[in-house]
Amino acid sequence: MKKLFFEVGHTKGKDPGAMAFGTTEHVEVTRLVARCCEELASLGVQAECIPVHLLLHEKIAWINRKAVPEDVLVSVHMNSGKSSARGLEVYYYGGSSESLHAGARLQKALSLETMLSNRGLKPDTQTRHGRLGIIRDTKPWAFLLEFGFLTSQEDLEYVRTKGGGDLARALFAWLSSW
Ligand SMILES: [Zn+2]
Repeated sequence: MKKLFFEVGHTKGKDPGAMAFGTTEHVEVTRLVARCCEELASLGVQAECIPVHLLLHEKIAWINRKAVPEDVLVSVHMNSGKSSARGLEVYYYGGSSESLHAGARLQKALSLETMLSNRGLKPDTQTRHGRLGIIRDTKPWAFLLEFGFLTSQEDLEYVRTKGGGDLARALFAWLSSW
């Protein structure tokens, strides 16, 4: 099975990401990924998280030192929006059919294993930056998840309780089918 790396979106202090309900995206995703890694270990999946204190360009340098092209990188974020907005999105390397197909399988596994509604599979070229460095400038195949909305009380509650275990089971199913 492929080795899995995680990137926790944003950085403590300088760039906390979305903010709502007295918490930040970076704090919630750090906890989510930690729970997910525990569950993956019990499923026998080798997973490692990029040190969370690094800035984005340092994270990219770190992964390019540690990973080989056969590995997989999943960057985990939480979205923000209107209080009624909910669900998950998957971003892939726009223009690559191999990334599109792997992203579609990832999204299917997430739909089956998690309780988050599905907002679609999107190319990184469709983001406001026009490209995502964590997807485009890193050696392994990389995908970015918006794992629910921090601004939705229901999504946040789910992410804090069952989210980590469900995400682990989805990733396990995805990697098993590679
Ligand atoms: Zn984010």
